[in-house]
Amino acid sequence: MIKEGLKVVLSGPSGSGKGTIVKELIKDDNFKLSVSATTRKPREGEEHGVHYFFKTKEEFCNMIEQSELLEYAQFCDNYYGTPKCFIEECVENGKDVILEIEVQGAAQVKAVYPDAIFIFVIPPSLRELENRLVGRNTETGDVIQKRLERAKEEIYLYREYDYIIINDNIERAASDIRNVITAEKLKSYRFDEDIKIMLNHKEDF
Ligand code: ADP
Ligand code: 5GP
Repeated sequence: MIKEGLKVVLSGPSGSGKGTIVKELIKDDNFKLSVSATTRKPREGEEHGVHYFFKTKEEFCNMIEQSELLEYAQFCDNYYGTPKCFIEECVENGKDVILEIEVQGAAQVKAVYPDAIFIFVIPPSLRELENRLVGRNTETGDVIQKRLERAKEEIYLYREYDYIIINDNIERAASDIRNVITAEKLKSYRFDEDIKIMLNHKEDF
């Protein structure tokens, strides 16, 4: 019997390193990334269906109307949302699915899936966050400023999350997340079925 995979919600300010951590985690085939829909324009190197499903505002609104999204939110002038279908398919196949989403969306996921694991990634400092966003060189100066302002509001919400990961080192951050997931999988309630089978196995004593 395949045990259901976990739904892992990963939030954190833009530039904190979520994408880099996810890239590291999904080297392991047991992790699957939920690919979001967005109205944001693709960055150089981003591919439709791999990094995002890039949508017009009209297409995005259609997805909302057709109830195709598990959650959605507006973040710094663009819309982002999680398609429903992939999540259930993953966990039913025993894969752990990562939802790399911002705080408003995470709250919506919590309402639907209270058993999901909520992890918040923070940078070592706000100065380092700014350095990373500038260094990434994917946004203009004013978009970076908006994202930095939003970062402070998001960090205030850290207590909504189960775990905090300080990303001062990618390998350690990824390994901390793997450890969290290992521990979560050892929670007693996940063994209800195994224990029942063990106790009903009459041939053993
Ligand atoms: P997010 O997905 O949270 O917006 P990214 O993963 O794109 O953030 O990371 C932002 C920038 O910071 C990228 O240029 C990335 O290479 C860099 N970065 C990520 N983690 C670290 C780290 N631990 N130390 C130094 N730079 C990092
Ligand atoms: P970016 O434009 O840097 O790719 O993403 C901006 C923010 O949107 C990040 O905080 C990212 O986690 C978040 N985001 C990405 N996909 C989704 C989604 O499907 N739903 C929500 N609510 N946020 C998302």
